[in-house]
Amino acid sequence: AKNIHIIGDAIQTSPLMPKSGHMANQHAKVCAAAVVDLLSGRQPEQNPMLTNTCYSFINDKEVIHVASVHAWNAEKKTLLVVPGSGGLSPGPAELEATYANSWATNIWSDMLT
Ligand SMILES: Cc1cc2nc3c(=O)[nH]c(=O)nc-3n(C[C@H](O)[C@H](O)[C@H](O)COP(=O)(O)OP(=O)(O)OC[C@H]3O[C@@H](n4cnc5c(N)ncnc54)[C@H](O)[C@@H]3O)c2cc1C
Repeated sequence: AKNIHIIGDAIQTSPLMPKSGHMANQHAKVCAAAVVDLLSGRQPEQNPMLTNTCYSFINDKEVIHVASVHAWNAEKKTLLVVPGSGGLSPGPAELEATYANSWATNIWSDMLT
């Protein structure tokens, strides 16, 4: 439906695109920028790129992560993972707990303040 925009977990995500809070945040930014462009009579960005990072605590100290970058593919009309981007942690690490807490603080600040 024209001018109806769906973001976050409610969409049928692209191949290998995770349903995550980080992705929902990225969807919202791409969508908001496109709505502003449409309201301003400009063409929305034709090549959006999204990033994802998801941390999981394995126990109270150690964390792993998965990360990926997703680029619009005009030919396939969907977002595809950029080859070689992101990846997985080599294994659980306490250092990653610091990264996880920083990620959480940043995204809460981005969304809630
Ligand atoms: C156990 C678990 C761990 C996760 N860990 C991570 C993580 O580490 N990092 C990460 O990035 N993501 C994580 N996720 C995924 C993340 O929580 C979701 O991708 C994100 O919350 C999606 O946001 P959303 O706004 O699209 O949907 P939601 O957060 O599901 O919000 C939808 C809202 O709509 C409301 N709603 C539903 N129906 C109606 C209705 N008819 N009328 C009005 N309101 C309605 C719901 O009550 C809800 O509040 C995790 C998810 C789970 C379940």
